[in-house]
Amino acid sequence: MDAAALTLAAASRLLAKGELSSLELTQAVLHRIKTLNPRLNAFISVDEEGALAAARQADEQRRQGETTPLTGLPIALKDIFCTRQQKTTCGSRMLANFQPPYDATVTRKLQQAGAVIVGKTNMDEFAMGSSNETSWFGPVKNPWDLTRTPGGSSGGSAAAVAADLCLAAIGTDTGGSIRQPASLCGISGLKPTYGRVSRFGMIAFASSLDQGGPMTKSVEDAAILLQAMAGHDAADATSIPQPVPDYPALLQQSVSGMRLGIPAEYFTDGMQPEVQQAVDAAIQIFHSLGITTVPVSLPHTSYAVPTYYIIASAEASSNLARYDGVRFSHRCQEAKDLADLYFRSRAEGFGAEVKRRIMLGTYVLSSGYYDAYYRKAQKVRRLIADDFDAAFRQVDAVLTPTSPTTAFRIGERTDDPVQMYLSDIFTIGVNLAGLPALSLPCGRDQAGLPIGMQLIGPPLGESPVLQLGHAFQQATDWHHSKPVIVE
Ligand code: GLN
Repeated sequence: MDAAALTLAAASRLLAKGELSSLELTQAVLHRIKTLNPRLNAFISVDEEGALAAARQADEQRRQGETTPLTGLPIALKDIFCTRQQKTTCGSRMLANFQPPYDATVTRKLQQAGAVIVGKTNMDEFAMGSSNETSWFGPVKNPWDLTRTPGGSSGGSAAAVAADLCLAAIGTDTGGSIRQPASLCGISGLKPTYGRVSRFGMIAFASSLDQGGPMTKSVEDAAILLQAMAGHDAADATSIPQPVPDYPALLQQSVSGMRLGIPAEYFTDGMQPEVQQAVDAAIQIFHSLGITTVPVSLPHTSYAVPTYYIIASAEASSNLARYDGVRFSHRCQEAKDLADLYFRSRAEGFGAEVKRRIMLGTYVLSSGYYDAYYRKAQKVRRLIADDFDAAFRQVDAVLTPTSPTTAFRIGERTDDPVQMYLSDIFTIGVNLAGLPALSLPCGRDQAGLPIGMQLIGPPLGESPVLQLGHAFQQATDWHHSKPVIVE
């Protein structure tokens, strides 16, 4: 088997036994990137030299007996995490040449844990999108079918993991951007509780919703990566000052006797029938593991998408005001005066979807509309969170599909923003409520495309969710199937 296809857990066992070196592993990954990235476009930049140097250093540390949990494991970062040694573009022309002067906390923590960062993955511009088609660097192809999207906005990370261009990757999730692409590419992806992982140095889209998390080949790997990423950070005022549990150790706990809520509102008519069938089959597996399922109600679910697009756009319009062409972003040529510099730099630097969000956000925050839209959305956000609170008084976790459909075709939803926004109908409520949620593969449709399901936990309930996901993967092998890449 190609070493690049290994999970983090399997590769670290081989590294520990001395049956594989980090250099060999990293070379295998770099070779895979060279052969397949021209077709997939999953990476915006690859740091071959830096990765090989880090791999050699990891092997040396291992020889000295100084290992940390990720020593020598090659992973990829979504190009939204600042890296001092590599450009950080956020998928935008605005930041096409941005070399950050510092590392994100996530970057630093992963490096300290010993990870080898092979490159930065493609993404929707400023993480706005569900298909990776808004990237300035071109669309990413889904490795299961190159005519389809990998989902978004962490589509590059999802495609890279699914096609073995890295062992695991990091994504971000504001409204579904880890879970929806994980689902469409047949991998596991975890959005942690808001505040569990530091946002410092993670380029801001909607600050009250953004959260970084692992995208991996197994739930076990998600626990391993989360362990390295999570924790309080004084540099992020919204980070939670709570100790980090031992996620990988807790995975081994029995799930028998746990209660899983099934919300009727998440099993809607517009859903692809095979998605429903796959989730129904997963429920049977959970029953066989000694888990009880109970109906729960999340009555404000239908308001999640409009509420999200008001709040996320409002925050984006404020966060993106900093890109003015003066300090570090794209600057237009030969500006006549300062106003002209601002106007033209922003007009040239941002793509159409980002402009749509800035306009929408500015509108809902403007005086006269603030109460009708923004303030109202904040109230509905509370009701959505209250629905989940009530559900978690009865159950340990909630089970839903991750996405109403499997991977759609490139171009299929680009002309209709509302259609695109509905891709995240099952993932967005979780962000509004700040909860942890895991997507993991649970089937394939008739075209052979992966289907994902979502396990949602209470605040800081990463462990129960990971335990349930891991138990499911011990009992099934959907997570072992791999795409065969053909034109
Ligand atoms: N697709 C959603 C949006 O376009 C969510 C994106 C995300 O989670 N970053 O806003």
